[in-house]
Amino acid sequence: MTKRLAAIAALSILSFPLHASDLSSAVQRDYDEYLWPLFDHFHRNPELSLFEFETAARMAEELRSAGFEVTEGVGGTGVVAMLENGPGPLVMMRADMDGLPVEEKSGLENASRAQQRDPISGRTLFTMHACGHDVHITSLVGTARQMVQRQDEWSGTLMLVVQPAEERLLGARAMREDLIWEQFGTPDFALAFHVSAGDPAGVINVSEGSPYAGADTVDIIIHGVGAHGASPHRGKDPIVLGSQIVMALQTLVSRELSPREPGVVTVGSFHSGTKHNINSDRAHLQLTVRNTSEETRQILLEGIERIAVNLGRAAGLPDDLLPEVIVSEESVPPTNNDPELARRLKNAWSTEMGADRVVHRPTRGMGAEDFPFFTVDPSIPSVYWAIGGTPQADFDRESDGGAPVPSHHSPLFKISP
Ligand SMILES: [Zn+2]
Ligand SMILES: [Zn+2]
Repeated sequence: MTKRLAAIAALSILSFPLHASDLSSAVQRDYDEYLWPLFDHFHRNPELSLFEFETAARMAEELRSAGFEVTEGVGGTGVVAMLENGPGPLVMMRADMDGLPVEEKSGLENASRAQQRDPISGRTLFTMHACGHDVHITSLVGTARQMVQRQDEWSGTLMLVVQPAEERLLGARAMREDLIWEQFGTPDFALAFHVSAGDPAGVINVSEGSPYAGADTVDIIIHGVGAHGASPHRGKDPIVLGSQIVMALQTLVSRELSPREPGVVTVGSFHSGTKHNINSDRAHLQLTVRNTSEETRQILLEGIERIAVNLGRAAGLPDDLLPEVIVSEESVPPTNNDPELARRLKNAWSTEMGADRVVHRPTRGMGAEDFPFFTVDPSIPSVYWAIGGTPQADFDRESDGGAPVPSHHSPLFKISP
């Protein structure tokens, strides 16, 4: 299913009319004989972000033997595979390949028991494809194999991108900084998908809007004046000021954004103090800030600065002790689909696979993706869609009071490949 969808997306931009039933049986055959064992291998052998050495090598080997011209080591472990097939657009399709530091408890026969040294903690950790990126790379290989076999059905150039470190939002940026477009050409269209535990298997969930949010990371350093906890009038208490800031930040989304404009300001961490009876001289807040447009992003970031600094003034802090607001350079833009391209793909999928397969179930959260590093600056029309990965029976079991369907990043995560 998943592989067929990806192949249809690539074919529908590049091609002449499809023969879906023929494609469907060809994909099924390839899945049974070739792709399932490949998926099984990837599922048992996940690797952490930036350290996807074996996965990348295997992907390079697979894409090369499929008939693509393959370059390894693009932006770290990234792989770029090219297939030139006459005049026409350059279409890029991306699959991310990293696993997560999670010990798999899915109960599956092919559950991962792999371990890897985690570069962040320095500890050796169990690894798991707990986000389904093993589905993505297997699908990319399936797409590659179909597109090679069907070269008389399409014309143009296909660029398949195997991306590292999506989970740390680093890989797409690294590949751009390694001049992927300058080396291989700037795509006319860019495609990506995520398998989704929240959607039933067999369903394509595609938006003409924004499937993923943009994200900023913000630190607020609150300076205070330390004092004995019994003599607070001798100091400036950063915990009281920090608490006021946390509460006032809640008005940004509720009172400054349009009610129909999504945004999130979450204070995920608030650290201050060492002991019951000491007023600290410092507090540190850590925020994640989400948007689906640059305009919203500016309203939220400017508002955070204004609230923090002016509540510092209201607390009577001198200018040199006002709260410091630090916006990390590691900002991720929102993933915004090109509506026209989304409609074109939806038409192709509906025609070839049935209209009931193609749905739009808007995302309720404000998760982020690093795919837009490929599609903004320069702007490339792109579509990012979701493919359901949970059998309907599992949803039925959940609604009958049975075990809930596990979410992405859960040790119980289980995708029907
Ligand atoms: Zn993911
Ligand atoms: Zn993930």
